[in-house]
Amino acid sequence: MAPAILWIGTFCVGAVVGSFASVCISRLPRRESVVWPGSRCPRCGAPIRWYDNIPILSFVALRGRCRHCGAAISARYPLLEVLMGVLFLQTVALFGPGVQALRALVLETLLVIVFFIDLDHRIIPNAVTYPGVAFGILSAAPGGWGAVAASGLTALALGGVLLLVSLVGSAMAGAEAMGLGDVKLAAMIGAFLGWPLGAVAIMLGIFVGGVVGIVLLVTRTRGRRDYVPFGPMLAGGALLALWWGPSIVHWYVSRVTG
Ligand SMILES: [Zn+2]
Repeated sequence: MAPAILWIGTFCVGAVVGSFASVCISRLPRRESVVWPGSRCPRCGAPIRWYDNIPILSFVALRGRCRHCGAAISARYPLLEVLMGVLFLQTVALFGPGVQALRALVLETLLVIVFFIDLDHRIIPNAVTYPGVAFGILSAAPGGWGAVAASGLTALALGGVLLLVSLVGSAMAGAEAMGLGDVKLAAMIGAFLGWPLGAVAIMLGIFVGGVVGIVLLVTRTRGRRDYVPFGPMLAGGALLALWWGPSIVHWYVSRVTG
C-alpha cells in the first residue's frame, strides 16, 4: 500500500470515529442508544442525511448551519473530528500498523469520550468502562496467556488501589472525593496498558490533577471546596503513559539506580 494512501485513510478513519465519539458524548449520559435513531437537528428535529453528516466536509459545506432551519451547528463536532484524525495519524506513526496500534486507538477513543462526558456531566458511564476493561484484557491475547493475565491483574490492582483511596478519602473528607466511575476507569486503563505503564498512567493522572488543581486555585477559577472531576486527569495521564511511558520508566529507573 502506498504510504500516502495509508496516511489519508488513517486520518479519515480517525475523523469518522471522532464523529461517532461525538454521538457517544451527547447520548451516553442520557442513556440513549448510540446507533438508533439517526442524528437529528436539535432545533427543528429534521433528520440529518448521510451527505450532511460527512465528518469535517459537511460542516464546511453547510457553513456550520442546519440545512433546514439554519440553526448553528457547534464547532465542537468538526474540531473533535480533526482532533481524532490527527490522534489516529500520530498513533499509527508511533506504533506502526498492527495490533498494538489498534489497542492504542481504541483506548484513545474511549479516553476522549470519558474526558468530555466527565467534564460536562461529572459521570463516567459504565457503557464505556465495562466494554473497555473486557476489550483491554481480550486484545492482549496476541501477546500470549502471560500478557492476558498481566492485563487482568493490572486492572484489578489499579481498580483496587483507587477503590481504597476512594473509601479512605470519603471517610476522611465526609464527602465523595472520587467516584466509582474513576475506579472503573483506572481498571480500564490498567487492562489496556498492563504493568508497569498502567501504574505510571495513574501516577501521571494524580500529578496532572495536582498541577491543574493548583492552577485553578491560583487563578481563582475554582475555590478550595469546588469539585473538579478526576476522570479527565486520569485520561490525560493514560495518554501520556501510552505515548511516552517506556521513556518515563527508563528515565526513572536510570535515576534511581544511578
Ligand atoms: Zn434544523
